[in-house]
Amino acid sequence: MIEVKNLRKSFKGLEVLRGINETIAKGEKVVVVGPSGSGKSTFLRCLNRLEEPSGGEIWFEGTNICDPKCNINRLRQKMGMVFQQFNLFAHLSVKENITLAPTKLKIMTPAEADEKAMQLLNRIGLAEKANAYPSQLSGGQQQRIAIVRALAMNPDVMLFDEPTSALDPEMVGEVLDLMIQLAEEGMTMVVVTHEMGFAREVGTRVLFMDEGQILEQNTPKEFFANPQNPRTRDFLSKIL
Ligand code: ADP
Ligand code: MG
Repeated sequence: MIEVKNLRKSFKGLEVLRGINETIAKGEKVVVVGPSGSGKSTFLRCLNRLEEPSGGEIWFEGTNICDPKCNINRLRQKMGMVFQQFNLFAHLSVKENITLAPTKLKIMTPAEADEKAMQLLNRIGLAEKANAYPSQLSGGQQQRIAIVRALAMNPDVMLFDEPTSALDPEMVGEVLDLMIQLAEEGMTMVVVTHEMGFAREVGTRVLFMDEGQILEQNTPKEFFANPQNPRTRDFLSKIL
């Protein structure tokens, strides 16, 4: 589904991604871990071109997304993204947040988008919040809305960048539960997270990033039981 070849990214001379090679197959749940500043967010943001790669290639469903002719709207439609800071539109209601993209991109009529939004809100038990504004919701509710907003576009892959890091501890579970449901339904997922329980239980593969490179990757079982690289061992010893 996704093939990354020698991906490089620099910000004003600072090399942040230093040759990433990675293949992600349909249905995989790839968990990306690593120290702060190692390039995890930049890697994820390059996948849907929120950041412009400085070099290399990224192929998604057979299209080179770095090609200037690539249809960026179609690409983003197929790649849902969820951020640490929910990023809901504060001036739009919950339902409008969900219907905005599908109607603006003319993927659905307003009535279809409305129906889809209510279906998704029912699914997460927040139908009664349809007309509320984001500021009236808890962090956990906002993040679950952000997730279903991405799902409204029927994406083929979901990218999550530390989706629970900004939440109060008691709200982490409800967001992880929704992510686990998605995983069980077969969604392809790339998840940057410090939730090692999630990595163990849900991940099909764990990638360890450090200084702009993927230093090590393995099944969660092997990754945690048997880290090979000294830097992986050092990282795990600090967080586990
Ligand atoms: P991580 O998500 O692993 O914490 P990031 O991808 O956010 O790492 O950042 C990697 C490095 O790139 C850091 O040194 C960060 O300061 C730098 N960086 C990220 N985004 C920008 C930007 N827009 N401009 C300049 N430097 C950036
Ligand atoms: Mg980050």
